Amino acid sequence: MAKKDFYEVLGVSKTATADELKKAYRKLAMKYHPDRNPDDKEAEEKFKEAAEAYEVLSDEQKRAQYDKFGHAGMGGAGGFSGGSMNMEDIFSQFGDIFGEGSPFGSFFGGGRRSERGVGQRGSNLRVKVKLDLEEIANGTNKKIKVKKHIVCDSCHGTGAKDGNSYQTCQTCHGQGTVRKVAQTFLGQMATTQVCPTCQGEGKIITAKCVKCRGEGRVYGEEVISIDIPAGVSEGIQLSMNGKGNAGLRGGRAGDLIINISEIPHPELRRDGMDVIHELYLNFADAALGTSAEVPTISGKVKIKVPRGTQSGKLFRLQGKGIPNLNGYGRGDEIVEVQIFTPTDMTSEEEALLEKLRNSANFNPSEVKEKKGHGFFNFFK
Ligand SMILES: [Zn+2]
Ligand SMILES: [Zn+2]
Repeated sequence: MAKKDFYEVLGVSKTATADELKKAYRKLAMKYHPDRNPDDKEAEEKFKEAAEAYEVLSDEQKRAQYDKFGHAGMGGAGGFSGGSMNMEDIFSQFGDIFGEGSPFGSFFGGGRRSERGVGQRGSNLRVKVKLDLEEIANGTNKKIKVKKHIVCDSCHGTGAKDGNSYQTCQTCHGQGTVRKVAQTFLGQMATTQVCPTCQGEGKIITAKCVKCRGEGRVYGEEVISIDIPAGVSEGIQLSMNGKGNAGLRGGRAGDLIINISEIPHPELRRDGMDVIHELYLNFADAALGTSAEVPTISGKVKIKVPRGTQSGKLFRLQGKGIPNLNGYGRGDEIVEVQIFTPTDMTSEEEALLEKLRNSANFNPSEVKEKKGHGFFNFFK
């Protein structure tokens, strides 16, 4: 879907001043605010659209970038997330627009709106998972024991001793919300706020759970089964929703962030989707031809080394690399030939080499004369 022009969204000209932008945004934010348009998806979209447009145009740098490149300039390195602002981002930006301490801070519910009625969200947890090349190539499942806050099994996260340990909140009479009349620049406005006494729950706990002392969570451990797709690499982060620390008193759990780390393979080096193996050949094998066994991710395979193989020659083993993380294609294994030069020799070995030292077929300059321009192709 094509995105609407930000200036059009706010209904201002391309040369609008910061003040004009602010005014235009205020007007739209008031008009489409979710509190005034309950359950109206279209209003919510318009509300978000306006917030996004303002977010960009109110920032000099982002605005310049947008003017130059349009929406295409807003992704990636530009620093702007490229669109999907959530309600919390939007509400948190109101402090700047309407000023700290203005009636609007409370008018807009101070950003707590999306958390209404539930306890506090648990924090994210990070774990490091080390994988060898075979696990990376095939994907794997890891079961990891994680120490973290888990939901209290005695009170099931409520923090209450039992079902009778509640009392209706006196401040909101069980509604979870209170109405306030605020003086705003648009005149007097009645607004609804989360009840400050019960945080929107409508009831308060009279007797706390003994096991968790009312927190709804305890410190413990959980074995988490992590499915790791094939093709991950060092530094990649996977995230599992709701597998982090349990929230306070029934709040949403945080996420588990998994940092992938690669265990180096003794004989294979990774290069993106390909793996590289250096094959050391003795001079006689390279000159006369042989067959050699090379390691791959899925076991050893034999390759044919033709007569006259040069140092640096590459053999490609198709499909023996690592699959693409997004599920299409697979890399190769590249075998790179290195001719092994002996350093320690017996006197008999030395005598044999001395015989060959001046032989014409052993000297590149003489071979070059014989083959002419073909000499350079010779090394491919
Ligand atoms: Zn408990
Ligand atoms: Zn209340």
